[in-house]
Amino acid sequence: MDIENLRSGTIIKAVSGFYYINCFDTVYQCKARGNFRHSKVSPIVGDNVLFKVAADGTGVIESISQRKNELKRPIIANIDKIIIVSSFQNPCPDTYLIDRLTALSAFEGIESVIVFNKSDTGDFGELPGIYKKAGFNTYVVSARQPETLKELSSEFKGCVCAMAGNSGVGKSSLINALFPKFDLKTGEVSAALGRGRHTTRHTEFLKTDSGGFIADTPGFSSVSAVQNPIEFKKNLVHCFKDFEPYIACKFTTCTHTCETGCGILEAVKNGKICSSRHKSYVALFGELKDIKDWKQNKG
Ligand code: GDP
Ligand code: ZN
Repeated sequence: MDIENLRSGTIIKAVSGFYYINCFDTVYQCKARGNFRHSKVSPIVGDNVLFKVAADGTGVIESISQRKNELKRPIIANIDKIIIVSSFQNPCPDTYLIDRLTALSAFEGIESVIVFNKSDTGDFGELPGIYKKAGFNTYVVSARQPETLKELSSEFKGCVCAMAGNSGVGKSSLINALFPKFDLKTGEVSAALGRGRHTTRHTEFLKTDSGGFIADTPGFSSVSAVQNPIEFKKNLVHCFKDFEPYIACKFTTCTHTCETGCGILEAVKNGKICSSRHKSYVALFGELKDIKDWKQNKG
């Protein structure tokens, strides 16, 4: 390999066999070297790669660095933080979705940040407190009131963040308010253009001024996003970090859903663990219970 001509960068977009690689502040259009087709690993958005640039400015990806993490849906690698956004209304908060996302992030080694948006339209009551108590950095903001966004903006510094949450909670509005240069389409506009289920959206990394990237993705679902649902199922209780201090149960086979002598149920009863978090754990446990081990060996 001609090492002198190698550069390193991050794949910020992948469309029809072309990869767009950010290297300092230039974006190079690259192809993958032919032999990636025969190996198990092919480049995905978020990959840190080494690539070579030809005289005409186009490039070829030569190698992919080891991934810190990798999600399946959307296909994306090396996420540092998931910013989980809920809104006061249209739609109203869904704690099960928040808790599923925090669990899947914990499983993948990704930090969760909790954001309650549209605070100009109402009071979130006890919700922010539940997530602060569970140990998450939690923000109550309004995309329409820039003065509420100062602290949240520091979460984006120097890291790769992905936005998650239901459609309409204000993810694009928040990105626009924090980083006006991106000018993403928000609710009203996309309705007018009919950006619906049938329009393909590609995952794209947006480079922030604070030395990081924001992954603009068509959203996460939970269970289907993880690479290995069987392992997720086995480790579920450890993906609720706020439960960890209370895993002291009478039975080693305790599922922490209904057993007597369960340290976690005890902690819920005496208010150390929020009951809504535990309710989500039980629901997710039920969802994952039916994943059979054979699926793991399927291919
Ligand atoms: P996304 O689907 O999560 O990206 O949501 P959008 O950013 O497209 O926002 C959905 C709708 O909520 C739009 O009509 C926004 O104008 C509105 N919206 C977003 N943030 C706020 C907010 O903080 N306050 C209010 N009142 N409306 C907001
Ligand atoms: Zn237990």
